[in-house]
Amino acid sequence: MQVMSVTGPVEVSDLGVVLPHEHVFADLVREYRGTGLLNDEHLARQELGLLREAGGQTLVDLTLDEIGRDPAALERVARASGVTIIMGCGHYRDPYLNREWFDRHAVDAIAEQMVADIEEGVGQTGVRAGVIGEIGADKWYISAAEERSFRAAARAHLRTGLTISTHAARWPVGLEQLRLLGEEGVDPRRVIVGHADTVPIPDYHLALARQGSYVSFDSIGTGTPYDLRRAVDYVLALVRAGFGAQVLLSHDVFLRGHLRADGGPGYGYLLTDFLPLLIDAGLDRQEAQRLVTANPVAALTGGTHG
Ligand SMILES: [Zn+2]
Repeated sequence: MQVMSVTGPVEVSDLGVVLPHEHVFADLVREYRGTGLLNDEHLARQELGLLREAGGQTLVDLTLDEIGRDPAALERVARASGVTIIMGCGHYRDPYLNREWFDRHAVDAIAEQMVADIEEGVGQTGVRAGVIGEIGADKWYISAAEERSFRAAARAHLRTGLTISTHAARWPVGLEQLRLLGEEGVDPRRVIVGHADTVPIPDYHLALARQGSYVSFDSIGTGTPYDLRRAVDYVLALVRAGFGAQVLLSHDVFLRGHLRADGGPGYGYLLTDFLPLLIDAGLDRQEAQRLVTANPVAALTGGTHG
């Protein structure tokens, strides 16, 4: 079995440690003036090198067109760094959407564009998407334009089989995303609900897991020491409730301050610092390793978790 990376198909057995929710390049300057621009290829290569040093092999880049997706640059840094990069497709959250474009395009036409990114590559680059996402809902509800975006993602998923990864930073929108995708016929086991750790409600994490989706704690190391302790608790709570196979971990690097060069966790922190914290807190070493290997691989390929 293979997945599509920006440099071509990769055997699943070669994916190794996978970070399922990251950004190598991104432009969020309209919200984060001064720090919201990742566009330095030299720096990106250096940071990706640190991931490899920490034992990581694969990174999922969920930057979409609305925030500066650059397939050719991703291909260059993947080749230069040796990191396998899997690129996303689809549409980000509402404030970034071109509303007029969404008003003028039918859901199937929006889906068609995603299918083209997946099957033929983006524009003339030939670089193909390997995952759908991060499909965004900005608030605690799904806006009208976002609903079209989610329905289109569902239809692109049904045609291509690629996993859907979402942006769900406000309670309880992840559950609504699963409901909406389900209405279109998507199995929740093929969905990664993102940013679950930005909602400090363990019952919400459990509710997502019970629906069958992957629960992504993807702000590891970019917050406060308190956030970090909470993240340890969230992971252990799901593992102890029997949902360990549905837990995903990542850093969601999207600001300059998240890079190691700027004092942040970079792409290696999860491996060098967070897994040891989980093990100190009582998680079995093999189970901890599965969270960053078997789990994201199954999430990307549709491997079952029961
Ligand atoms: Zn993200």
